[in-house]
Amino acid sequence: MKTAMITGITGQDGAYLAKFLLNKGYNIIGLVRNNSGINMKNLKYLDIDDKINFIKVDLLNLSNIVRIIEKNEIDEIYNLAAQSSVGLSFSHPIETLEFNIVSTAKLLEAIRNTNPKIKYYQASSSEMFGNVKKESLPINENFLLRPVSPYGISKAASHWITVNYREAHNLFAVCGICFNHESVLRNKNFVTKKIINTAVKINLGLADELRLGNIRVCRDWGYAPKYVEAMWLMLQQDNPDDYIISSGEVHSLEEFVVKVFEKLNLNVDKFVKIDESLYRPNDLEINYGDNSKAKNKLNWKYNMSFDQLIYKLVDDEIEFIK
Ligand code: NAP
Repeated sequence: MKTAMITGITGQDGAYLAKFLLNKGYNIIGLVRNNSGINMKNLKYLDIDDKINFIKVDLLNLSNIVRIIEKNEIDEIYNLAAQSSVGLSFSHPIETLEFNIVSTAKLLEAIRNTNPKIKYYQASSSEMFGNVKKESLPINENFLLRPVSPYGISKAASHWITVNYREAHNLFAVCGICFNHESVLRNKNFVTKKIINTAVKINLGLADELRLGNIRVCRDWGYAPKYVEAMWLMLQQDNPDDYIISSGEVHSLEEFVVKVFEKLNLNVDKFVKIDESLYRPNDLEINYGDNSKAKNKLNWKYNMSFDQLIYKLVDDEIEFIK
């Protein structure tokens, strides 16, 4: 039986990954913050909160991480913990940069000093690429990183730290460069969750308007439970490498809103208000990814269309709110 250690286990991806690995027979160690109670909401929703060995740790404390790795026989580490919101990273740049970058370096340094055979997954992000010229899209693994937010900068730094430990110290360390992926477990401070949650509430008579910032931005949205499978596949290969994980489709946020409201038979113009105070200081206009390397080399199968994704998210949100 293999043992996987997951940082960020209480988040969207951490919860789905833990469920996926439990189904494969893994032992799961979930690292959680040592300065607050454990946020069990997502793990309870997936009914796995009692199947995980939780360990409280400060991921900025190297000796704490070293002690955990020395005490447990760990095969794989998935580093998903991060301040993961682009929007929040503008108001909290120092915390975002400090935690996201230093925790990655400390985890890799702990592996190097204790058990370099451990396989390591780093949660990289499409936000690392910044604004790419439309004619150059879709983005592949070889594109230049030119992030435009503190979050993107923190992920770019963590990405290169991971590549550096792979090349300089021969660690099996990989980066999954994920584009946006959604689910009913998406954190409330993400616009997609806000749209779906508010639309469902409007439908139930529990809300009367949806205020949004710039809805002209275009993104590549996928379904989170399928993305965690790609993370695992990356650690099952003979050689470590980095992969774009994306749906390969691109749509505007406006299309996203319209599709959600259509599904609920609601009139968009009546309920949606544009509020310029919600615009970000700097935003990516459009991005989408080329997932062919992941599909060909990992044999990762992703075939959910945009419409199917939206319908699934709306249906799940209705159940969730009930
Ligand atoms: P999420 O739902 O926001 O979860 C973030 C996790 O990180 C939570 O478990 C949170 O713990 C933990 N965390 C945050 N700050 C921490 C700190 N200072 N100390 C310890 N733990 C901390 O994020 P997600 O959507 O699952 O994403 C997982 C990873 O993939 C993140 O690194 C994210 O940046 C990256 N990523 C996500 C996407 C996407 O579309 N979802 C795309 C590209 C990359 P608490 O529960 O205690 O807050």
